[in-house]
Amino acid sequence: MGRKPEIRYSVTPEQVKELAALQRQILANVWRYVRPGGTLLYSTCTVTREENAENRRWILEELPFRADEFGDLLPEALRGERSVAEGALRLLPGMHPCDVFYIALLRRTLRGERQQKVIRMEQKDIKSMNGAEIEAELALLGERRFRAGQIYSWLHQKRVTSFEEMTNLPKSLRQELSVRFRIPQLTVEECRISRDDGTRKYAFALEDGNIIESVFMRYRHGNSVCVSSQVGCRMGCSFCASTLDGLERNLAPSEMLEQVYRIQRDVGERVSHVVVMGTGEPLDNLENLVRFIRILSDEKAGGISQRNITVSTCGLVPRIGRLAEEKLQITLALSLHAPNDALRRTMMPIANTYTISQCLEACEAYFRATGRRVSYEYSLVEGINDGREQAEELAGLLQGRNCHVNLIPVNPIEERNFRESRPANVANFKKILEKRGINVTIRRSMGADIDSACGQLRRKIVVQREQRGGIS
Ligand code: SAH
Repeated sequence: MGRKPEIRYSVTPEQVKELAALQRQILANVWRYVRPGGTLLYSTCTVTREENAENRRWILEELPFRADEFGDLLPEALRGERSVAEGALRLLPGMHPCDVFYIALLRRTLRGERQQKVIRMEQKDIKSMNGAEIEAELALLGERRFRAGQIYSWLHQKRVTSFEEMTNLPKSLRQELSVRFRIPQLTVEECRISRDDGTRKYAFALEDGNIIESVFMRYRHGNSVCVSSQVGCRMGCSFCASTLDGLERNLAPSEMLEQVYRIQRDVGERVSHVVVMGTGEPLDNLENLVRFIRILSDEKAGGISQRNITVSTCGLVPRIGRLAEEKLQITLALSLHAPNDALRRTMMPIANTYTISQCLEACEAYFRATGRRVSYEYSLVEGINDGREQAEELAGLLQGRNCHVNLIPVNPIEERNFRESRPANVANFKKILEKRGINVTIRRSMGADIDSACGQLRRKIVVQREQRGGIS
């Protein structure tokens, strides 16, 4: 299972194609040596992702074999792999500590029957579905409604990683489900634990190999998880590491849920609060975000009260309106960071599209629609937005509004040249706002020793990978 650099670097695409054909020739000769009822283990470490699955399909269509299940043969940690549901195991560099490796288990049929045609189907992500949607899917399979509740509970309460573990379902249904649906998983790529305050920063690999990050924080009011909503971000804020390489893709609801579930399992403690303040602009992925919140706050699923969920936005004004229509009881946080449009434009490109007054108006409307007070985030950057003048201007802007301001000394990132405000300036800034009757909290910067600023850890891993080179 070690690395095989000689194959990795010397094989051309043409040779890869030949290799797949060569394997078929070998298989066409050797299958007869497997007795009826016996097992054929197709195990290979060739280069492209698809060819092995193609070969397995070919065996099933052309030779008297049927797909077999791994069952207890696989170590626990690998049972939930997505490819296992398809009857094969595919290990990938970056996601597993080995090179590309593919294993399929096949059993020779007793009377020489072949599987006619292997149905190729896009497997749907069942973990992003709500109860009603699972019910509708089951109705299509002719199954009874109560099964949907059982499956939903297995996924979101017991949080199993495979259909095989859903032991109160008939075996035939479990098999059917594993053909049609997938249960997306995250793999811990790295976990850094702060020596200062126990904050944990996770880098997770998604099933397509992308990396995201999430943070676990312990507060007096309970444990909190900071969730990413996208792979990368396209908002371009000047002080943020998440946006340096742009947006890769949106996260599915299941991928957001899994960040919370996975961390809860890993730490072994209850998570009572969730903030969507990791990588990405949540309102740029609104539909999936709302789905995520509804499942996370469902008593029969995530069980986290909406009042303990915070969504932070850089200020996509029309989307704030759409979020308000959902009538969720979550807290909305607006990333303000500047008291006037001119300064805000130098820090946040979105300020060229929407003015601060449009943002504030949208937040007021949000409050009217939901009864939830909006928070304003203000990251203090030394010499840029942390002076007495800016504090006075901010106070003028927010005075009389039902709101709360979070002051956060900015977390410096390597790629940009700016510093966090001095503690004395932070304290002064706070005093000025308070004098004008505004609620202010200084948020402690947590886990600074573990690259806790948005996107920093993910970026390190992606850059390291690029330097290592490699395939997949
Ligand atoms: N895109 C959303 C949510 C993700 S960022 C938003 O803009 O609100 C979460 C918060 O972290 C935002 O307030 C963002 O401005 C802030 N942030 C980003 N980089 C930071 C840094 N280096 N130091 C301090 N805060 C930062």
